[in-house]
Amino acid sequence: MQISLQNQVAVITGASSGIGSGIAKSLASAGATVIVNHSSERSADEAKAVLKEITDAGGKGITYQCDVSKEDQVIKMFQDVVSEFGTVDILINNAGIQKDSKFTEMTIDQWNAVIGVNLTGQFLCAREAIKEFLRRGIDPSRSIACGKIIHISSVHEIIPWAGHANYASSKGAIRMLMQTLAQEYGADKIRVNSICPGAIQTPINKDAWSTPDALNSLLTLIPYNRIGQPQDIGNLAAFLASDLADYITGTSIFVDGGMTTFESFSTGG
Ligand code: NAD
Repeated sequence: MQISLQNQVAVITGASSGIGSGIAKSLASAGATVIVNHSSERSADEAKAVLKEITDAGGKGITYQCDVSKEDQVIKMFQDVVSEFGTVDILINNAGIQKDSKFTEMTIDQWNAVIGVNLTGQFLCAREAIKEFLRRGIDPSRSIACGKIIHISSVHEIIPWAGHANYASSKGAIRMLMQTLAQEYGADKIRVNSICPGAIQTPINKDAWSTPDALNSLLTLIPYNRIGQPQDIGNLAAFLASDLADYITGTSIFVDGGMTTFESFSTGG
């Protein structure tokens, strides 16, 4: 049994670092042509470095700058990708940010920034991807599904998170977005799922692992007793995007070393 994404084109948002870069590498190694999306000029070099690793390993792809919270930029990204590669088969809705604050001190800018990237960005990219999937229709030389969307959510889709109301709200909402799309487009053979990472070692949560004290405290939340790596998410994303997962749609899969078993209750609470 082998995961194959041959002949397929995948857009991975926020792929210049962390989980997105891990997913881009996994999908490329399974044969997909990958669009390594990054948000701004500042992340262009990082995106190029990710793409270089991919092409050095024999993979194919391009980098593409687009702020996923901006409708005009998202529409243009999908138009450009379709005109260069013919279509899009897979969307990985990964771009995400945190702007943490005690709730009573949270500004409207902090709220809007997080909802804008984490939720509106996923809405915009999913809408443009589904339009393209429906335009193309099923092509069995690519996949038995018409298209695949994977939302990168979080354990905070179900675990409330004090001091992070904007982030937890965005992730909770992704669950309903994902399930609604899976329901609305199931008959069109479009599969939509979420991956919910626990603690993965990336720049977004550097404060939680960059000192031994912080890491030890983090590990008290993780029964499997290690921090996750982007590859842990990339492995599942490649499987979920492939035809091996053809009967999986409308679900959230947690990749968290057991965090959602609530380790702190392991001694009886
Ligand atoms: P990261 O900071 O390395 O990656 C986030 C990426 O999103 C960056 O490449 C950033 O440039 C990009 N981005 C931000 N705003 C953007 C925009 N407007 N348009 C396009 N791209 C934009 O952190 P990460 O941990 O790799 O996060 C990736 C996803 O995983 C996020 O959605 C995050 O919420 C989720 N997640 C991460 C963890 C974890 O422990 N690291 C846990 C649960 C969920």
